[in-house]
Amino acid sequence: LPVVVIAGRPNVGKSTLFNRLVGRRQAIVSDEPGVTRDRKEGEALLRGRRVKLIDTAGLEESAPETLYGRMRSSSEEGVAQADLVVFCVDARAGITPVDAHFAAWLRRQNRPVLLVANKAEGRAGTEAAMEAFSLGLGTPLALSAEHGEGIADLMSEIAERLPSQESKAAASEEEEEAKPLRVAILGRPNAGKSTLLNTLLGEERMITGPEAGLTRDAVSVTINDGEGPVEIVDTAGMRKRARVNESLERMSVSAAIEAMKMAEVVVLVIDAERGVDEQDLQLARLIEREGRACVLALNKWDTVEDRQAARKAVSNRIETSLAQMRGIPVVTFSALTGAGVKRLLPTVREAAEVWNARVSTGELNRWFEEALERHQPPLVGGRRLKLRYITQVKSRPPTFVIFGTRVDELPESYKRYLVNGLRETFHLPGTPIRLQLRSAR
Ligand code: GDP
Repeated sequence: LPVVVIAGRPNVGKSTLFNRLVGRRQAIVSDEPGVTRDRKEGEALLRGRRVKLIDTAGLEESAPETLYGRMRSSSEEGVAQADLVVFCVDARAGITPVDAHFAAWLRRQNRPVLLVANKAEGRAGTEAAMEAFSLGLGTPLALSAEHGEGIADLMSEIAERLPSQESKAAASEEEEEAKPLRVAILGRPNAGKSTLLNTLLGEERMITGPEAGLTRDAVSVTINDGEGPVEIVDTAGMRKRARVNESLERMSVSAAIEAMKMAEVVVLVIDAERGVDEQDLQLARLIEREGRACVLALNKWDTVEDRQAARKAVSNRIETSLAQMRGIPVVTFSALTGAGVKRLLPTVREAAEVWNARVSTGELNRWFEEALERHQPPLVGGRRLKLRYITQVKSRPPTFVIFGTRVDELPESYKRYLVNGLRETFHLPGTPIRLQLRSAR
């Protein structure tokens, strides 16, 4: 059975939570810390998954010395075998130094952790739930074990994070690594997409393909570029349909989106002879909106005479018209002769890495404090807006949440200032960055 361990300092409500999840009165609960518990393990059925639940409160008794030492040695036993650790804090008491200390230790254990802010019945403890972001363990789930609020959500969250039902061995790291990087090649008709694909297939070892893709007209081929497999979604069929009327608007915004959805990185092929035009920008904005990593591929470079000027024109155009993807990587090549095409896939891999990036909450908040000091949030209605914490809630693309008060009044210009700062400080060129604001109330 998958093992779920409930950890946290004494008296945050671990045993109450344990009872809720196993659904029977298996543990004795008391408001006094350190009361003897007779049970520390049980089985629970969460969303159809049977799990073994361990309440570390039951282990605390036996351990000696300081509070922290006691928590730690009692948890070490459990955490080592955990498929998931449910780390519990007390939303009414707020985040204590012991919580922070314990969270830091937990982060080093490299086990998946689900952060829970307990005793948050009604609206109680919103502040502490917010503060809990600073623990660097992701988004806290506010609930009340005592009142049974939020328990259904907790069960779903736990079930979602358990290793998949197939044997754990099957999801071995090697197989994880062998997952191909998925790339879509997009661009206006005649930009040179088919030529590029043929050149790539000629240069790299083809593993499979062409194979029918996920949508009617898409075909994918998998090649190996020496770093690993790369699956290229070819949208030839989609384009044939599009050529009937040649208009990007009618074509295939939907076909382009379909291809993008299948990909992690989009290579936007541009005919360098013609330069970046409105249709290219429209596609780029679509890629941004879908939240994909993007590489600009300036094709037909063989036809360009003044390369310096061409490069400059492209970067100016991007700078002014694609500010939301500042720093987007640009590769120049000739798909026809093959010159420069070798640089494409390494750049694609770098873009994927940026898109996958994770920044620790500690680092983020150190930067955040400085950024707020350097350029204070504006006064609105005579009062300064308060921004308090920032945390990254997901990657692909990097997505951040900022907590504060009256955040809906924060002007766009200030959000752009923060996004630009994130991009530069944490080296996130070219990727879409999502910034969400949440209010304490
Ligand atoms: P697609 O519609 O984007 O798939 O474009 P194609 O790959 O069919 O190419 C359109 C035209 O551009 C063809 O005539 C190609 O030979 C030509 N072409 C493609 N790549 C290059 C290149 O790097 N240099 C030059 N000079 N012509 C190219």
